[in-house]
Amino acid sequence: MKIYIITDLEGVAGVVNWDSHQERSSDTRATEWMTAEIQAAIDGARSGGAEEIIVAESHKVIIDKLDKEVKLVLSGGVASYLPGLDESIDGVFIVGQHARAGVGTGVLNHTGNSAIFNTYLNGIAVGELGFEMAYAGNMKVPVILLTGDAEATQEAKALVDSMETVTVKEGINKYQAISLHPEKACELIREGAKRAVERINEIKPFTLKAPYDYRVEFTTTQTVSKMCLIPGVRKVDERSIIYTSDNFQKIANMNLLRAYLYDAE
Ligand SMILES: [Zn+2]
Repeated sequence: MKIYIITDLEGVAGVVNWDSHQERSSDTRATEWMTAEIQAAIDGARSGGAEEIIVAESHKVIIDKLDKEVKLVLSGGVASYLPGLDESIDGVFIVGQHARAGVGTGVLNHTGNSAIFNTYLNGIAVGELGFEMAYAGNMKVPVILLTGDAEATQEAKALVDSMETVTVKEGINKYQAISLHPEKACELIREGAKRAVERINEIKPFTLKAPYDYRVEFTTTQTVSKMCLIPGVRKVDERSIIYTSDNFQKIANMNLLRAYLYDAE
């Protein structure tokens, strides 16, 4: 069995502010906690029967602290959405995830970057996790485990109720939370990962019907002006664009371009 792990930082136990990003601070504890949670997920997957594990690195995962048998997807620059996530994967884990932009009690809630107000796929409001689930689902690959704060796990469950989730902190608001101790979080993630692998056949992929509509509401009109330079992108209103395709890969590519055209003003 082959498991692909998508990683993020903001939904890790102990993390409640942007300073936790190693890029922005000398405090490396957050990346250590994130790395430990990823390793806990790897350990759980192995004890459940997974043989091959691929980890998509983000936010400077301390890769030499991970199980030496994993394969790492590394991105010094990004021009491909989740490389290595294809039909050969049996199940996906999303570790350390946060809620979508606008969810008040979602710790560090956001979608991609601060230029995004909302994103929708076929009319369904999705954040990063919903987009990832749809991307995998388009290849009939289920996301079988998601770990993060309470709002993130609820957001995932609302899309596929049968998936396994592990809640590591409860948000009070964007920057305050009641969190588990990092070691306790790892203990629960290990158990959740094992259960997810054991239950893989009961968990459905999140599938949408083609044609796929990708609508993005931005916080700034300038990003709309830039996005409309791309052939096929249509303006919906001063803050929103829509892009439609029968090919989900093209929707994922548009999602990457959207990140490049970031404009926070
Ligand atoms: Zn994220």
